[in-house]
Amino acid sequence: MILRCIECGRNYPVNDVRYRCDCGDLLEVVHDTESLRGKISRKTFDQRLSTREFPYNSGVWRYKELILDIDNKFIVSRPEGNTNLYSAEKVGEWVGVKHLWLKHEGENPTASFKDRGMTTGITVAKMMGFKKVACASTGNTSASMAAYAAMAGIKAIVFIPQGKIAFGKLAQSLAYGAKTLQIKGDFDDSMNLVEKICGQLKIYLLNSINPFRIEGQKSIGFEVLQQLKWQVPDWFVLPGGNLGNNSALSKGLKELYEIGLISRVPRIAVIQAHGANPLYRMWKKKTSFKPVQPVTIATAVKIGNPISWKKSIRGIEWSRGVVEEVSEQQIMDAKAMVDQAGIGAEPASCCSVAGIKKLVRSGIIHKEDKVVAILTGSLLKDPDAVVNYHLGKLKGIESTYANRPIQIEASLEAIRKALD
Ligand SMILES: *Cc1c(COP(=O)(O)O)cnc(C)c1O
Ligand SMILES: [Zn+2]
Repeated sequence: MILRCIECGRNYPVNDVRYRCDCGDLLEVVHDTESLRGKISRKTFDQRLSTREFPYNSGVWRYKELILDIDNKFIVSRPEGNTNLYSAEKVGEWVGVKHLWLKHEGENPTASFKDRGMTTGITVAKMMGFKKVACASTGNTSASMAAYAAMAGIKAIVFIPQGKIAFGKLAQSLAYGAKTLQIKGDFDDSMNLVEKICGQLKIYLLNSINPFRIEGQKSIGFEVLQQLKWQVPDWFVLPGGNLGNNSALSKGLKELYEIGLISRVPRIAVIQAHGANPLYRMWKKKTSFKPVQPVTIATAVKIGNPISWKKSIRGIEWSRGVVEEVSEQQIMDAKAMVDQAGIGAEPASCCSVAGIKKLVRSGIIHKEDKVVAILTGSLLKDPDAVVNYHLGKLKGIESTYANRPIQIEASLEAIRKALD
């Protein structure tokens, strides 16, 4: 295992505390896939499915050889992952595909996929002896980091854009005891500041710029494949914000392919909110990367200058994937459908379902395709968005599928009338 620059290819030892190459670009963990070929098989992972043994009971550490070769004594695990893969017929009908699965990452310990990257990130922080960790966050990274840091006895410092994160997420950060700094600026300002502070003080940075976060997040793809009995779907569709998650997905799939655990490459579709779409613009117009000023109700992806855009593009190209954008209305309508199916997810998560609908309409995803959408976070993260949608109180968004609460007299007669 080494760290390698994604741009100039320079190598660094894995125990170097660094997030960027001297040339300024991002680093990634490189595994010795050649030697892993003989060491692991599908069976290695299938045999661990029923175990309660630490750390293989985790949906991340089950794939330990592919994630991080580290002494088990350092591992901080909840245990995360092992989330459900729902076969979602009704939602499938709505988007226009026959086979749709929803991978619900909101079922993680702190209710978003961030736990998969945080277990590896905090584990490395502990191994390296850090007493403090920090991140900038639109909410879920901070919720996750606060919880894992508390478990590891490490001090957490979170930078969040003031007044711009969902209530459930702010609550988690405070509850788990993180020092919570509400920055008077947006996510991109917070990200910029936290990277500088971590460089100056002895604080470990746990945003997805950290290459070990990406390693843990690869496990979403591994787990989906295992749940599908290693049948490779035609598509993985997921939202894109800071673009770490889709970079992780493609990296993991590429490694599986190189090791020979899968023999076909699924296509990856990254879906951005229209108001926070720098990757989409670059992709569509074939121009160079340009940050935007982000505006969207999907606060988890409200990011205008995503750190991992280069990793992301590289993975999308490798998988012959696509980038799509969706409107606020499309996000909230898709969310209402996911919610009403009894599954539920936060707004950003539903970019994936809205994106599938759009890609089916434009003929890129076919009706017969087997499609896996990743739901990145729980419905309960953002109760304001839910209630205001059903009350018809979201500015500029029509509550197409509203389920309004009914105010009623406290009498049987009134209730009978209402239920008629
Ligand atoms: C973090 C997050 C995203 C965006 O993931 P990136 O890796 O930043 O692209 C999407 N949805 C939810 C719920 C998130 O918490
Ligand atoms: Zn470099």
